Amino acid sequence: MPDVTARHLAEGSRNVIRIASRPRRTGAGFASRAQCWVYLPGVHRKLVLFDIDGTLLHTHGAGRRAIHAALFNEMGAEATASRVRFDGKTDPQIVRELLAEAAHDDRDDDERIAAVCRQYVDLLAVELEAGTCQTTVYPGVVDLLNRIEARRDTVLGLLTGNVAEGARLKLGSAGIVPDRFRVGAYGSDHHERSRLPAIAAARAEGLMGRIPTGPDIVILGDTPADMTCGLEVGARGIGVATGSYDTAALLAAGAYAAFESFAELEPVIAAIYA
Ligand SMILES: [Mg+2]
Repeated sequence: MPDVTARHLAEGSRNVIRIASRPRRTGAGFASRAQCWVYLPGVHRKLVLFDIDGTLLHTHGAGRRAIHAALFNEMGAEATASRVRFDGKTDPQIVRELLAEAAHDDRDDDERIAAVCRQYVDLLAVELEAGTCQTTVYPGVVDLLNRIEARRDTVLGLLTGNVAEGARLKLGSAGIVPDRFRVGAYGSDHHERSRLPAIAAARAEGLMGRIPTGPDIVILGDTPADMTCGLEVGARGIGVATGSYDTAALLAAGAYAAFESFAELEPVIAAIYA
């Protein structure tokens, strides 16, 4: 019988064990210890991260109006005629680009940009509560979230350019409980979207017993930026054409798979867990 020791890892990952053999001598005379991870039924082996705008829901311009108003109130910058695109970007990045477009003196001032984002959250709450245009949830989203959330092998999470409080407001306005997403990485964590997958993965460690990497991280989103942001950690991007980009554009950006919508559930589930 080989001498095998198994040790449970972090609380919340009782089904993850690490198995290590007794140290043995190699041909070069060095001791080595073979080690591998064993995943038992019920283990969290996938981190599935959803973008919000254009992927789960549509706020009919509430976010854009709130950012424009915050920018004007806080910085005196008029941006309603701006040509800056919002999709695929983080909130601080959007504010920075709007200020750059207006050639504002404080366009690189992180403190001022953070102040605009704070005011944006207040104004977004007003916009969403005004109820002038109800938030729309895209077809299949509710069923897809329910299916993924019910799986014991998966941690459901968010990866969004929204600042954290803005994300909660938008989800709440759509009747989606924010706390069902057990991990999140937000625009308030970093203004570069490409930095967010590693942040989400690190935050999932306590739930998964390890920092996930490669295709164990799945990012679902509606823009090429969603598909490319996880390149550094080897994440799998899955596109949905409910935003401004079609499936061809999402595939060209490197999506593992792309769908017109989440209305047909099984192919999406298959792409996530393939
Ligand atoms: Mg989006």
